[in-house]
Amino acid sequence: MTGIVILGAGHGGTQAAFSLREEGYAGPITLVSEENDLPYHKPPLSKSFMAGQDAPLQLLRPQNSYDAQNIALRLGTAVRRIARQDRLVHFEDGTKVAYDRLIMATGTAARRLTVAGAGLRGVFYLRTAQDAREMRAALGGRVVVIGGGFIGLEAAAMLAARGAAVSVVELAPQILGRAVSSLIADSVAQGLRAAGVTLHCGVGIDRLVGDGGDVKAVVLADGTQLQADMVVVGIGATPNVALAQEAGLPCDNGVVTDATLATADPAIFAIGDCAAYPQAQLGRMARLESVQNATDQARTVARTVMGKPAPYSALPWFWSDIGPVKLQIAGLSQDATDMVAAYRTDGSLQSVWRLAQGRLVAVETLSSAGEHMLARRMIAEGLTPPNDVMASGDIAALKAFYARAGTVS
Ligand code: FAD
Repeated sequence: MTGIVILGAGHGGTQAAFSLREEGYAGPITLVSEENDLPYHKPPLSKSFMAGQDAPLQLLRPQNSYDAQNIALRLGTAVRRIARQDRLVHFEDGTKVAYDRLIMATGTAARRLTVAGAGLRGVFYLRTAQDAREMRAALGGRVVVIGGGFIGLEAAAMLAARGAAVSVVELAPQILGRAVSSLIADSVAQGLRAAGVTLHCGVGIDRLVGDGGDVKAVVLADGTQLQADMVVVGIGATPNVALAQEAGLPCDNGVVTDATLATADPAIFAIGDCAAYPQAQLGRMARLESVQNATDQARTVARTVMGKPAPYSALPWFWSDIGPVKLQIAGLSQDATDMVAAYRTDGSLQSVWRLAQGRLVAVETLSSAGEHMLARRMIAEGLTPPNDVMASGDIAALKAFYARAGTVS
């Protein structure tokens, strides 16, 4: 047996290595990372890791677990190419490793800003632990965050809590784009404003202005000039598919896989942020960026490699901590046509239930973890509570509905 090579040691790749052992795979496993850090949790990078200079990196697995599971972890290793004919991975340092199964878990790269001044010192992206270390070490008094997506807003809230004067610039009319309903976006925006963050929506960036190579200001398309000691760019990510493309594997917004996550080459699989797969709930190809998707796909691929192939169909879920608010999303809302909102007794928004032609497809909750967990089960089981139960936001009423209609009480 030649062995399994996993490219990328993020959430998906690392889970795949350990899941292979749990599934009983006894052959060689090589887990390759371009980064020098031991595999770590990415979500805290824009959250607790930003809380202070000393917040530690949270490792995915203890250092000794790789040896204990006989997983050969190659850190700081760049891959030059995949030779599919020979089933070899060639590294930049001239070495190579043979595989009989290859798992691509290369994640995404931050989309780069292209306006004038984008290369100035003090402009940061937040993708890796090294990015986050550099960013928090350089924290300045005035911060402009470009992009009102999850990562940008999480960082904005953390940096504001540390005393920075933070402005967020978002091209779309509302923050969080189409990732959540406008009700949730408005509520998150209110929370950010209350925390002192200034939001500029519906306006693009004209240029960044520097002095001596350091960023000093961001000029918006409407001429507004925002002073900046530091700029954080969070304008999305693109899948890392160059190696797959060079190897001749079909790619279309990700490495294209079938429902078992196999690529066009049956010896090669793709999982996590870099993979475009037939998404069961949507009924079409999709690429998701979440820890749940990466780790659940890793488990599926491990079973497939061990001869137990099954279509990947786990229900997507996601969370984001924006300041004190925990936003959780169960399901996918892309096809939603209607919504039912639930409010707390103080009038604040608690959750938004999203429906497509009367069928529950997604639930967005704000610091309402019990409701999120119930919603996950209901969506997975195809259950839609009556409107008044959804609108009540009452956990007891939701539980009672699930006890009557669901498979488990
Ligand atoms: P990654 O975890 O990104 O791992 C890919 C790895 O592959 C990287 O380490 C990369 O360096 C490496 N790599 C790339 N190319 C090569 C190569 N050629 N050779 C070797 N190695 C290579 N998701 C949530 O669900 N909730 C959150 O709150 C949340 N917060 C986030 C906050 C931040 C700051 C970031 C950056 C992401 C966040 N995410 C969150 C997204 C989540 O981290 C990703 O969806 C998840 O990490 C995807 O796992 P992955 O294994 O596909 O890719």
